[in-house]
Parts: sequence; structure tokens; C-alpha cells
Amino acid sequence: MSQVCNHDTEEIPTAVPPLVADDFSDATYTVQDESARNSIMNLIKHPWTIVFFVGFIAYLAIRSVYARRTKTEQKVHRQVDRLETALLLMVIPTSLLLPLLYLFTPLLWFADYRLPAAAPWLGTLVMLAAIWLFWRSHADLGQNWSVSLEVRSGHQLVTGGVYRLIRHPMYASIFLWGLAQGLLLPNWLAGWSALVPFTVMYFVRTPREEEMMCQFFGEEYRQYMLRTGRLVPRVVKNTKP
Ligand code: SAH
Repeated sequence: MSQVCNHDTEEIPTAVPPLVADDFSDATYTVQDESARNSIMNLIKHPWTIVFFVGFIAYLAIRSVYARRTKTEQKVHRQVDRLETALLLMVIPTSLLLPLLYLFTPLLWFADYRLPAAAPWLGTLVMLAAIWLFWRSHADLGQNWSVSLEVRSGHQLVTGGVYRLIRHPMYASIFLWGLAQGLLLPNWLAGWSALVPFTVMYFVRTPREEEMMCQFFGEEYRQYMLRTGRLVPRVVKNTKP
């Protein structure tokens, strides 16, 4: 009988514990343990970081497809002042770079912590919802989308699809994405690097965006505001904007 089939053979202890198999069933969730600290490639050390990375690529792919489709649309109004630029500069690099640094280098490992074992499962569900809502918002907004506060020539007010009940489904999706990231990456810096800066951006930008929309679409947008919520559907119909 070959040695492979010989069950009596004494088991040789492995130097590195089987991280991947154990991590799905642990009572708590953390990406690092002592055996993993020798590795540069954090990404391949844990299946949840791979789940996050696949979602990250999907999110970026949706954005790049729609950014390309809207590239040639003329703009008739641009409200990209210093504040808007500062917000974009705060959100985009932090939310893109910190997770990548975490996945591919050990630089941020000092900020790791443990999450309940259910966290990444929940994170995966929230991530799927975020991706779906991001895709639908882009699809429904079509040529009217822009990364900053802009009105395009022939801009149409979208009030259907995922815009029927809420005015900011794309921002709702980014909030969901930020939450999913925090549940999938158990690290104070990489985990919350999308949610925290985006929350600041949301509270500064949204009133400015709605003001701009009121300026261009007037009564139509004001009526739309009355029957919709910003991020969650309106339960009680409002009577004043
Ligand atoms: N706040 C929206 C859209 C984000 S993209 C959301 O979260 O889904 C930002 C641009 O979308 C703005 O510059 C504005 O020109 C455009 N926009 C926002 N709401 C819109 C609507 N209901 N219809 C058409 N364009 C809209």
C-alpha cells in the first residue's frame, strides 16, 4: 500500500494552522493571527478578504462602465468649488487606497481587531445589496449622472426606478458599501475608510445638490421632494419641502 493510504502512519504536525478552514467557524473573526504575520499577501490569507476584493472590483467596474458612457455629455452647469473638490479628494483616495493597502501590504495590520463571527456573513449580504443598488442607480440615472454637482445639457429629472421612493439611492448604496466594508475588513483604518469620510461628504453635499436640483427643475423637484425620502422611503407624506 502506498504511504498516502496508510492511516497508521504517524501524523506530521504542520507548522501553519489551517487558517482558511477554521476562520469560517471561529467564534470571532479577525484576518490576522501570528502565523499569518509572515506574509505580505494579506489578501490570500482569509476568504472574507477575497469576498471583499471581488465586490470591490465589481463596484469599480460598474462605475467605470457608466463613467465612460457619460463622458461625452455636455455640461451646462458645474458647481465644483473648493468645498466640492475637497470632499472628493477626501473620499475617493481614502476609500480606494486604504482597503488596497490592507489587502496587499502589512502596513495597516497594527489596527486589526476582532469582530463577531457573524459580521462577515452579514457584510457579504450588505455588500450584495450595495452592488445591486449602485448598478440600478447608475442604470436609472443614465446620462444624467456625474461624479460631482453638475447639470448636463438635456438633463432630465429621474423619478422612476430606484429613484421613485428615495432621492439618493446611489448615496444609500455607498453607505451600504461602507458598512459592508467595515463588516468584512476587521481593521479600524481599512474597515471604516469608506463610511466615515462619505458620511461627512453626504451631509455637506446633499443639501447643495438638492438646492441645485431645485434651481434647475423648480416645482417639479420640490414636488418630488415632498413624496420621497432622502435615503429611506417617506412614510408620512410631507406637505412642505
Ligand atoms: N444623489 C443622487 C445622484 C448622485 S450623482 C443619488 O444618490 O442617487 C450626482 C448627480 O446626479 C448630480 O450632480 C445631479 O446632477 C444628478 N442627479 C441627482 N438626482 C437626480 C435625479 N433625480 N434626476 C436626474 N439627475 C439627478
